[in-house]
Amino acid sequence: MKKRNWLTEKSKKQNQLGQLAATWMLIQTLFLATPGLANQPKPTLSYSQLLEKLDRGEIQKIEVDPTSELARVTLKNQGKNELPLNVVLFNQNPELINKIRSSEVDFEVKPTLDNASALGLLTNLVLIGILLGGLVMIIRKSAQASSQAFNFGKSRARFQMAAKTGVKFDDVAGVEEAKEELQEVVTFLKEPERFTTLGAKIPRGVLLVGPPGTGKTLLAKAISGEAEVPFFSISGSEFVEMFVGVGASRVRDLFKKAKENAPCLVFIDEIDAVGRQRGAGIGGGNDEREQTLNQLLTEMDGFEGNTGIIIIAATNRPDVLDKALLRPGRFDRQVIVDYPDCQGRLGILEVHSQNKILDAEVSLEAIARRTPGFTGADLANLLNEAAIFTARRRKEAITNLEINDAIDRVIAGMEGVPLLDSKAKRLIAYHEVGHAIVGSLMEGHDPVEKVTLIPRGQARGLTWFTPDEEQGLITRSQLLARIAGLLGGRAAEDVVFGHEEVTTGAGNDLERVTSIARQMVTKYGMSELGQLALEEDDNQVFLGNGLMNRSSDYSQEIAAKIDVTVREIAEKSYKIAKNIIRDNRSLIDDLVDLLIEKETIEGEEFRIIVNRNKEEKIEVNLQDKLVKV
Ligand code: ADP
Ligand code: MG
Ligand code: ZN
Repeated sequence: MKKRNWLTEKSKKQNQLGQLAATWMLIQTLFLATPGLANQPKPTLSYSQLLEKLDRGEIQKIEVDPTSELARVTLKNQGKNELPLNVVLFNQNPELINKIRSSEVDFEVKPTLDNASALGLLTNLVLIGILLGGLVMIIRKSAQASSQAFNFGKSRARFQMAAKTGVKFDDVAGVEEAKEELQEVVTFLKEPERFTTLGAKIPRGVLLVGPPGTGKTLLAKAISGEAEVPFFSISGSEFVEMFVGVGASRVRDLFKKAKENAPCLVFIDEIDAVGRQRGAGIGGGNDEREQTLNQLLTEMDGFEGNTGIIIIAATNRPDVLDKALLRPGRFDRQVIVDYPDCQGRLGILEVHSQNKILDAEVSLEAIARRTPGFTGADLANLLNEAAIFTARRRKEAITNLEINDAIDRVIAGMEGVPLLDSKAKRLIAYHEVGHAIVGSLMEGHDPVEKVTLIPRGQARGLTWFTPDEEQGLITRSQLLARIAGLLGGRAAEDVVFGHEEVTTGAGNDLERVTSIARQMVTKYGMSELGQLALEEDDNQVFLGNGLMNRSSDYSQEIAAKIDVTVREIAEKSYKIAKNIIRDNRSLIDDLVDLLIEKETIEGEEFRIIVNRNKEEKIEVNLQDKLVKV
């Protein structure tokens, strides 16, 4: 606080200085613009008058200044305070000199500095001074702007320090294995003697690896909260700034502060921002980042195992990290923080519902079951949105309605305004029902959760499927079913409105179809091309190994075959989808009418209608047979 005051005071002073300089400059320009002011009128005497006065013996003293060709004449009867008279001499006049010599007058030749040139010199000096002063001020200003760069930690710390995070392991749910592993780190911080007496070296770094929002930061805070040690945190991206060397000095400073406060925990978020493989990457290496990383490595090596500082870093890209970071003695422990499973989601929901009022009808288990793939952050957000909806509707407790709305919102974004009944709306309805019907009737497809015509985010209509809970492995027939379901939208447009009327609405569907089909061929060995992995993960490009040396593992011939096979998969699936649409045309028409009327059909209702239709069909078939018999 004090330091900050001091800073502002100082800058105030500088401001005043600046104003002063500005006035000076102004005065100076005025001064220069009006030279009359500079050469004030002085009492003068003409040359002939001088000669006359010499003759009359009225002169006491003459000083001749050869540079300005002036004679300064002091008269005998002149008052003490009067200035000497100036006489302009046109040349060194021998006549005058002789005359002066012969008379009894003090005579001096005094080449004084020319007044005007002296003034000029002075002005120049002042101007130069002001310019230099200005320059210094500008430099100071810019230095101040990046003061964090030069004395980071001294003025404004870029890392955060919290004496107590107040987070406990109980606040983190759904990541039990990670918590178990990290419990050990808490013990290291709390009772290092337990390990050091046995000669064990305490690990220096732990790397938390997992997708965004799964609770890595929260876990790090919880460790420091449980161990009751200070928590230093900085984000990897904050290391890398404008100037080369800043990152390195920040690292140095961070560790200096940490050492002063040991035992403590240093948390480096997004370490991949600094910790990428050195000397690699698109667009050449990044000197600054490399320096920062080198400094980080040096610092980590620098403190001996038992100083009581533990570094925890988080990343969602462990694959891009420099190998040197993962060496023993650095981040040699890796803890995976993954998406929570159903049980984990329930735990997280319990944590975040503690401070919320839930209606008795709300079942957290049901929410957990409905939200596969949600991270802890998503779930926290979900409950928060539900609370906001509830407050907006002036209800007393969160009900299932708000929960449902919040889930939709978290999954698909803001709700838009539904279209008026029009041809476009009918087309969208057919498209969505097409997805839902093909999805429902394909063996092995995920169940329909909801079909809606209410636009959300980019989408004009949406069909949701709930993926089977944590299935992990997916079979070939499931993938084919997914492809057919994705093509169901386009197939419905095609069958109902004709080939010329299909729309751009299927663009996203087709992208996903292509991606799944391609992976089936090149990654999972699910085609005639055989059990080969023809391509590695697509995130290769970011690996830092660069685009340049990416070798394809297959020949041109195989490349052509891949394309053909991918196309075959898509075409076959499209045929299947179209057949399903044709076979169920009247059911689809009914569903579209219902959807346009209600805007949304829930999965349960949808299934009931489809099943009823199936039974009717069987009945009709039976009757047909009966008639035939
Ligand atoms: P990450 O660092 O992995 O991106 P954060 O730790 O920043 O994720 O999580 C953001 C927020 O989401 C947390 O502050 C917390 O409210 C919530 N959250 C995430 N994971 C969990 C969890 N496992 N248990 C409880 N809350 C969680
Ligand atoms: Mg984080
Ligand atoms: Zn679609």
